[in-house]
Amino acid sequence: MERIGFVGLGTMGGYMAANLRKAGFEVTVWNRTPGKAAALIAGGAREAASPADVARASDIVCTCVSDTPDVDAVLFGADGVAEGLAAGGLVIDYSTISPSATAEFAARLKAQGIGFVDAPVSGGSEGARLGTLTIMAGGDEADLERARPVLEGTGKTITHFGPAGSGQAVKAVNQVVIAGVYLAVAEGMVLSMKAGLDPQAVVAALGGGVAGSWILANRSAKMVNNDYPLGFRTRLHLKDLGIALELAQSLGVVLPVSALAAQLESGLVARGYGDEDMSNLARPIRQLSGMEG
Ligand code: NAP
Repeated sequence: MERIGFVGLGTMGGYMAANLRKAGFEVTVWNRTPGKAAALIAGGAREAASPADVARASDIVCTCVSDTPDVDAVLFGADGVAEGLAAGGLVIDYSTISPSATAEFAARLKAQGIGFVDAPVSGGSEGARLGTLTIMAGGDEADLERARPVLEGTGKTITHFGPAGSGQAVKAVNQVVIAGVYLAVAEGMVLSMKAGLDPQAVVAALGGGVAGSWILANRSAKMVNNDYPLGFRTRLHLKDLGIALELAQSLGVVLPVSALAAQLESGLVARGYGDEDMSNLARPIRQLSGMEG
């Protein structure tokens, strides 16, 4: 069995590393802020002093950190993974970051004889905890096959889309689609309330028809109550829309709804709501309609 390293024990990475340990892998972990590995160590994982040290103890190193510069830092910064991983190693990046930077990272690692798979996920912290994440993968076929037992230890639906960066491009599409649905559900809920309708009855009736969606079923009540416990953080979705809008611009693609969602989310972050669930996109729609928001 290959030895696994895990760098980044945040909301998502902590659960993923735990699931890999439960799947029987030998796991070595590192997190920038100390103190996050205690439960993993109790479960039999080992803690290393740096990403390079993780890599020295591993055949495959997984990363799950915040944004593109953070993946750059843990892979290629001082004491980074690329310093410690021997030729023949493999990196699996679970973070959601730029597709073009991902292709560059893969090429730099390939020059060192190291394989690379981008494996951004959807399914949230609950999916990470239960090991049921949807994984959108990019990379060479052989790297993907080698990564598969690790991916299967962390997720349920694994789809390979093409070369390195293509998993990230699919994740960008995912974030574009949900931006539009969140905004549409917010508009529908505000219209329901202003029209004097019972929003719960509206959601129940619409749910069985063409307007039905996971977001309508699971997030409309937060919008009606104007209360947005997590969920998925607005600031993370804003980061992901930045990636999608940059990709669109490079391809000459126009995304007006995503651009609007990004602007509204920027306003939410500026107002101090960046750590709420992203269903708080209803706040500006409510406010513009004369409601509390
Ligand atoms: P999180 O809880 O904020 O954790 C971020 C992790 O990245 C922490 O371990 C943090 O270390 C580490 N990190 C950030 N910058 C770093 C740097 N420059 N060097 C070293 N370590 C660094 O975030 P998360 O929710 O786990 O998300 C991780 C990734 O998964 C993101 O790309 C996110 O978009 C994606 N994702 C998240 C969700 C979700 O529901 N949360 C769903 C799908 C995808 P410290 O502890 O030191 O801060």
